[in-house]
Amino acid sequence: MGVMIVLNERGDIIADLDAVPPRKGNYVDRDYFRVHRTRADLGLFIGQPLVSRLTGVRMLPFSRRINKPDGSFGGVVLGSVKLSYFTHLFDQISLGRDGAINLYLRDGTRIMRQPYAEADIGKSIAGASTFERMARGISGAFVDTSVRDGIKRHYTFARVGDLPLILNVALSVNEIESEWRLKALVIGGMVMLLCSLTILLSLLFGRELRRRAAMQVELAKQSQTDSLTGLPNRRAFEESFAQASSSIGLGRSLSLLIVDADHFKRYNDRYGHPIGDEVLRGLARSLSASVHRPQDLVCRVGGEEFTFLLPDTDEVGAHRVAEKVHAEVSNLAVVSAGICAGTVTVSIGLASTVQRTHADDTLTDLYRLADAALYRAKAAGRNRTCCAEPENTPAGLQTRLLQLVSVTT
Ligand code: GH3
Ligand code: MG
Ligand code: MG
Repeated sequence: MGVMIVLNERGDIIADLDAVPPRKGNYVDRDYFRVHRTRADLGLFIGQPLVSRLTGVRMLPFSRRINKPDGSFGGVVLGSVKLSYFTHLFDQISLGRDGAINLYLRDGTRIMRQPYAEADIGKSIAGASTFERMARGISGAFVDTSVRDGIKRHYTFARVGDLPLILNVALSVNEIESEWRLKALVIGGMVMLLCSLTILLSLLFGRELRRRAAMQVELAKQSQTDSLTGLPNRRAFEESFAQASSSIGLGRSLSLLIVDADHFKRYNDRYGHPIGDEVLRGLARSLSASVHRPQDLVCRVGGEEFTFLLPDTDEVGAHRVAEKVHAEVSNLAVVSAGICAGTVTVSIGLASTVQRTHADDTLTDLYRLADAALYRAKAAGRNRTCCAEPENTPAGLQTRLLQLVSVTT
């Protein structure tokens, strides 16, 4: 506490808590004295901080008016709190480097500030946005920039009981966030790293999946391709041939050519296996050049044996293809080995679904018929095409007889 005195209506000390008889002094010029003299309804009045005339110490005056029995002004009771009391009180609170505690009168006058600066005491911040926000509520919190030093702070404020005082604690936003920022930076960095890793792994995984898919496609392609000629192989032929059964079921025509190189063994024997291979590659090119529709399939199904699977093609159409094959093959030459055009020939067995005589004819029958036709082509002197014949007709029987004869001879 500072001083505790009673003043009469003229401002003279008439009672003093610390001295008997009371110390001498007149306070008629003090704000609180004038205010109480003119207004009877003030109750407790807290004045601006001032320097005590009795002790020379800075303090905050608290005063009340004394009324005479008739209600007229009878003097003032004055108590005061040394400002150093607040300094000690606030000192115990840790505020960081830029934090502050302020005690304001409701009119915006700063009574005390921690950290303490002489110049701050008694100054009014009535117009400042921070004070306006504090004056509006009973208590609360907000972030604003100080008019005193321009530092952005988080303010928490409350009124002090029923007194016309506002207390606030303001902590620097920078200081509050600095620790958080470091953590956020570390966590953010780790999240970024994990995200980048995830993205990288996803990309690698995607690339691996694509590589595997491409490999599977390539393997599937290879498993269906003949390595010497690049044509579809027997497996591919068998698959396509099996699928073709559906088109036959729908009443569409299907033709099959079996092409076999004539006396091929002789090429190997005479020119050697590599040249034989070269002839086979040339044959493959010639056969491929003989068809143009996308659905036509040319396969190498054996050593020097090839097949044509011709969907939606009747015997006449298939025969035309066979003629084209003979024409293309007649142009085949292997100049390096001295094999001229016209040397290489093929025999062709042709069967079409239109030649079926029995309802239970199957694809196997078609293959068998084409094979038998090929056999006939060979037997008839090679370099030709023979069409399959219905088996129960005299021609069919003749074919069988021919086969029997050539097997026995
Ligand atoms: P035909 O006119 O009766 O068909 O007589 P051919 O000599 O063509 O028939 P044959 O079945 O007796 O002989 C086929 C020959 O084809 C046997 C083999 O030496 C040869 N051959 C099979 N596959 C290959 C191959 O991949 N490369 C080579 N160079 N020759 C092959
Ligand atoms: Mg042959
Ligand atoms: Mg053969």
